[in-house]
Amino acid sequence: MKKNLLEILACPICKNPKLELFIFKEDETEIETGLIVCSECNRYYPIKGTIPVMLPDDLRNKDEDLKFLSSNQDKIPTKVLSEGKPFSLSHTQK
Ligand SMILES: [Zn+2]
Repeated sequence: MKKNLLEILACPICKNPKLELFIFKEDETEIETGLIVCSECNRYYPIKGTIPVMLPDDLRNKDEDLKFLSSNQDKIPTKVLSEGKPFSLSHTQK
């Protein structure tokens, strides 16, 4: 996705328009991999293959979301890893 797209996106759950963006991989024009975080409801939305995946909780794939979090752990704030919604790593690790 293009960076300026963030300005028109809002959280699909709580409608908060102020979303945080974490970029994992980008080229000159597009963010290829990253994470959008809603500071209001603590939900996170992965950006995969330049596409921001902003789905309601019941349409999300828990295994894929957790895999995405754990494979990018070093780039994601601890708060999101441990308290992010709808799925966080704190419930699955030891
Ligand atoms: Zn939200």
